[in-house]
Amino acid sequence: MIDKAELTRVIEEIAPPHLAAEWDNSGMQIEPAAGEIGSVLVALELTPDVVSEAKLGGYDLVIVHHPMFFGGGGAKPQNILQNDATGRYVWRLLAEPPAPVGVYAAHTTFDAAEGGLCDEMRRMIGLAPWADRLHPDILAEFAYIAPFSRTGRFSEATDLAGAVARVRSAFGTGADIRVSGNYSRNVLKVMTVCGGGGDAIPLAVRTGCSLLITGDIRHHEWRLAEAEGLALIDAGHYYTERTFATLFAQRLAAALGQAYANIVVDVSAEIRQPYASPAQSKAE
Ligand SMILES: [Zn+2]
Repeated sequence: MIDKAELTRVIEEIAPPHLAAEWDNSGMQIEPAAGEIGSVLVALELTPDVVSEAKLGGYDLVIVHHPMFFGGGGAKPQNILQNDATGRYVWRLLAEPPAPVGVYAAHTTFDAAEGGLCDEMRRMIGLAPWADRLHPDILAEFAYIAPFSRTGRFSEATDLAGAVARVRSAFGTGADIRVSGNYSRNVLKVMTVCGGGGDAIPLAVRTGCSLLITGDIRHHEWRLAEAEGLALIDAGHYYTERTFATLFAQRLAAALGQAYANIVVDVSAEIRQPYASPAQSKAE
């Protein structure tokens, strides 16, 4: 067992609170009832299946990437109601047998962290870090997204078609990927932003990138990139972040070390994309 304050300290060494975006709500969301924690489940986010898994497994704490309370600007929930999706999560987590389950969110705190999700996305695609760091003026102007962007280059000349192939194999996206730009044009400086990074288009253009790889691109963002001559790969919010649970669980187990080798740290078996293409649904 580990004291819950000590566990929080270990979690926050991996995902430091000072790295949180202003608009984020990382941190303890439901404090565990028990003073001592024996088991932790790591998931991408809460879903009804993840809550069931946490209950059935008798976990003390669930660590998620996406916060369960996320109103923007640090908004606090006004009420906990049965007819509200988040309210039902709270009721189930606290009231359903066998025991209450806590929730901690490591969102932008782990995105921005060294060796966190943003670094991991660049590594998975096979990009070497771009040597030049962002100018402080650009960092200040794009403070809302710059800490969550990474720049890099492929080790050999790669065109957009090659970059798409790399992204597909890195994230296992299959056909579930959207692309704009000239497939036969070489991509030199590449920006990556895990999750939804359409906001990074002006930053990618300003810093001379020829390709932005991210997820959740909206209609007008595709048009903006087209007008700016920036190639875009939308590899999906889910696909660019689903590695969170495995990565965080590994980091946590390593940080707990031998001293806490008896603490159970499990990766959720309920991590799936929230939709399926018609072909996929038919196959299942
Ligand atoms: Zn996300």
